[in-house]
Amino acid sequence: MDRAGDIRVIPLLCPGCGGRLPAGEDDVIFVCAPCASCWELADGSLARRELHHAGGAGDVRLPFWILPFQVTTREGSVATRAAFRSLAGSLPVGDTGSDSDLPNLFVPACSFPSPPRLVRAGRLLTLRQPAVVPVACRPGPIAPIVFNEKDARNMGETILLATVTEARKESFAFLESFSFRPGTGRLCTIPFERKDSKFYHPAMNLEL
Ligand SMILES: [Zn+2]
Repeated sequence: MDRAGDIRVIPLLCPGCGGRLPAGEDDVIFVCAPCASCWELADGSLARRELHHAGGAGDVRLPFWILPFQVTTREGSVATRAAFRSLAGSLPVGDTGSDSDLPNLFVPACSFPSPPRLVRAGRLLTLRQPAVVPVACRPGPIAPIVFNEKDARNMGETILLATVTEARKESFAFLESFSFRPGTGRLCTIPFERKDSKFYHPAMNLEL
């Protein structure tokens, strides 16, 4: 049986500059070091992806999907940052965004040593609602991007639920009514300082 048609070898060369794209086993999106462009493998070919970089310094940039979202619970619809804070029981921390904007869900696009640490990283950033302002920069090392936007949407509900107070989650009716609707995601890197197996963001006073 001729199975040659079943196998396609895709040369991982940057369509922008022809440079070789670094590709780990689990990578789904590749960043070209020479020209800083970003490519996603989809349907057997490389499609360009926007990749933004938040300002700041660090040893490594962690990639996150930032998904604006709305969520409906039996208590009503949450479609603003202010309403999200009320749902999560959190206080505004160093946030420059408007309270009437859609809240953002932060979903890691890189792997973490364990699923609980991944959820925790997403939860902490989502509770902070940092205004991630992209800057034009030559990014330093970026942790491998192993989750695409679809993965992020699938993980989103778990991360969002992790931000909700335990008291609310004790109610089955609350959980049953919980309906999460993510909008179109942005892929963004945020610089962190690496210390042993942890990541620090001093300005946000955050340890992931
Ligand atoms: Zn390139």
